[in-house]
Amino acid sequence: MLSIGILQVAAQPVQVGLYQDHLVRAAVVYCSAGSYQLVTDGTVVSRLVPGDILYLTFEEGQVKLLDAYRDFGYVSHLELQAVSLDAVFRVRPIDPELESRKYDDDLVVKAEDRYMNLINQVDIDKYLAGVVESEAGSNAEPEFYKAQSILCRTFALKNLDRHLNEGFSLCDGTHCQSYKGKNDLNPGILEAVQETTGKIVADFNFKLIDAAYHSNSGGQTQRASDVWLRDVAYLQSVVDPYSLHQGNAKWSDTISFNDWKAYLIANGMKSVSKLPEEIIYVEQMRRKKYFILDKDSIRMTKIREDWGFRSSFFDMFPEGDSILVWGKGYGHGIGMSQEGAMKMARDGFSDQDILHFYFHEIRLMDFRDLPASSLPQAKFKF
Ligand SMILES: [Zn+2]
Repeated sequence: MLSIGILQVAAQPVQVGLYQDHLVRAAVVYCSAGSYQLVTDGTVVSRLVPGDILYLTFEEGQVKLLDAYRDFGYVSHLELQAVSLDAVFRVRPIDPELESRKYDDDLVVKAEDRYMNLINQVDIDKYLAGVVESEAGSNAEPEFYKAQSILCRTFALKNLDRHLNEGFSLCDGTHCQSYKGKNDLNPGILEAVQETTGKIVADFNFKLIDAAYHSNSGGQTQRASDVWLRDVAYLQSVVDPYSLHQGNAKWSDTISFNDWKAYLIANGMKSVSKLPEEIIYVEQMRRKKYFILDKDSIRMTKIREDWGFRSSFFDMFPEGDSILVWGKGYGHGIGMSQEGAMKMARDGFSDQDILHFYFHEIRLMDFRDLPASSLPQAKFKF
């Protein structure tokens, strides 16, 4: 087993588990650019150039491996190791059938008990460029991408040990950060990531922050303690005019008056039937932590979750037998509003201005200047 200390991460690749919401049992792998050597159970068996294809099938605890001409038999571990810096491969899972995706750098495949573990071993900045494109789209300003890159890097480094038991560091789903393959649509994203290389956000105690972000704050961000039940000094509520008038600034819904009443009673608000009707509606000029009725309360975030609303920042108005719900923002509302940050970048603010606007009392610094105790001591099994 090889242990890799975190301080080497900038020079080391990060291991990302692919298609982790599924158990992949068969896949086709294409060499899309550059060249690769194919290594099975520690031995180089072939070289791949663009157009070459590998067929992988999981059978009884092993991976059956074929290319267009040869049958390599059964292996338990294979790697596509990039021999050139521009190497790109593409994976198309066949069982189950899933979206085909392109990735930079290396592919590692390990036979597990019931499926093949597909792992992308990739330069951390290339990985971050893929994450930023997945999480923020491809049409924003460079300063926004820089701010988003710094947050995504902070999140990745803070969570490097999340999946170590599964043989990689981070998964490609929303559990970690969404990563749908390489940055492909806008080369400016990789440039922004590389311009900020090594940069992270730390708190005043030199700890990596919880790098929270969401789509749109609705005009005011949410204090973390209103959602997470613990106070976080750098995640306070900020009045955010930049998020107004953006794509996800508003939403609306209609619910039944009787369903709402039944919901309140089911959640312990016994006095609902005795109270005047006008007070059982929600009103939030500013974000509230609780909806309070008489002596009872329900957290706004619980109402959002139970009703599937886009945010917990909404008002309610009666309309006949129904209730109109007018909401603001999209997402949990904590930390950086992506649409607000995009507007700030369009207005000429820098990545630093954006991060200092959404986070209180933070330090923007290089992670290599953090004390070792502030970083997870990641160990990889390869
Ligand atoms: Zn994960």
